[in-house]
Amino acid sequence: MTNKNLKKILVLDELCPPYDQIKVLESGILLVKEPGVLEVDQLISRVKQDPLIKGIICSLTQKINEKVFQELPQIEVISNIAVGLNNIDLEAAKKYGVRIAHTPKVLSDATADLAWALLLGGSRRLAEGDRLARSGEWKGWAVNQLLGPSLGFTENIDQNLGQKRLGIIGLGQIGQAIARRAQGFNLDVCYYNRTRYVELEQSYSWGFMDLDELLMQSDYIILAVALAPETYHLLNRTRLNLMKPNAYLVNVGRGPLLDEEALIDCLESGHLSGAALDVYEYEPNIPERLRALSQVTLSPHLGSATFETRQAMSRLVIESAESIIQGKEPCGYFAI
Ligand code: NAP
Repeated sequence: MTNKNLKKILVLDELCPPYDQIKVLESGILLVKEPGVLEVDQLISRVKQDPLIKGIICSLTQKINEKVFQELPQIEVISNIAVGLNNIDLEAAKKYGVRIAHTPKVLSDATADLAWALLLGGSRRLAEGDRLARSGEWKGWAVNQLLGPSLGFTENIDQNLGQKRLGIIGLGQIGQAIARRAQGFNLDVCYYNRTRYVELEQSYSWGFMDLDELLMQSDYIILAVALAPETYHLLNRTRLNLMKPNAYLVNVGRGPLLDEEALIDCLESGHLSGAALDVYEYEPNIPERLRALSQVTLSPHLGSATFETRQAMSRLVIESAESIIQGKEPCGYFAI
């Protein structure tokens, strides 16, 4: 390949093995690996230095605003190692004709698994138990030690106890995978979503509720909706206060879906029994008040963090960027 035809993709994040080893793609396109999040102006000046850079692979922490598209007409594609695209100005991408790829579906199972790990581990106080077991202070089994709620009951242990309800906010790929996993727990599953999926409701016996009703009637709530201007602070103070006393909240969507300060108030007051969070409003900063709450389980944005999933995500972001630079039509991994 002559130098004139040489093209490059700037990779601003670590890729998962074996994709971390690839420097030249079969098409001859070079991967220029400089992992690290850049300020928008730094990104623009870096790319401008090298007119052969035609694509960017980045993670969800890399901000891509209109200025990037305006100043860098050489860029044909941006490939995001994530499914949420809230870090990218999609309207501006459309305006400037830049293709945007992401990694939907391949991470749905891993993220749904983590949602359940948080729900089970959090509500059953596993992190607190781990801290106690390690502390050297544990005195042995005790009837009232670290009790949490029962999820569901296959045997009628008390006639007064009804079936518990799991409310899922956002029935996209991840929300559906979470809901399917609920079957083994004998929970009543309901959901709130912008779009109603009647066929899924019928196939799986999932109930649709409007958001306020779902908040008032669910024992467990999992947030799995995309972050968009319409869903920013979807769970604001008023809505958090609608939740059942002692309800348990899990967030695997994005931090700004809920008003973090209002959530802390609800937890400190005892209105909610606890919460398990994988994402935060001002990531990676987690407020001291939140970190101080023992009934909260905190996970550092691990939703898609399995070997197989991160490998698939790494493969997809490369393939998507490469295909556009080669002049191919965008496939199902493109949002634009
Ligand atoms: P998806 O299949 O595209 O589903 C997106 C969900 O968000 C759907 O319920 C969709 O509703 C809803 N939605 C999108 N835009 C909306 C808007 N403007 N207003 C109201 N609802 C809107 O995506 P997914 O794979 O399920 O992922 C969902 C989110 O999970 C991602 O966007 C990402 O932020 C987050 N996530 C987190 C992790 C993690 O590590 N914790 C990993 C992966 C993803 P419709 O059905 O009506 O379109």
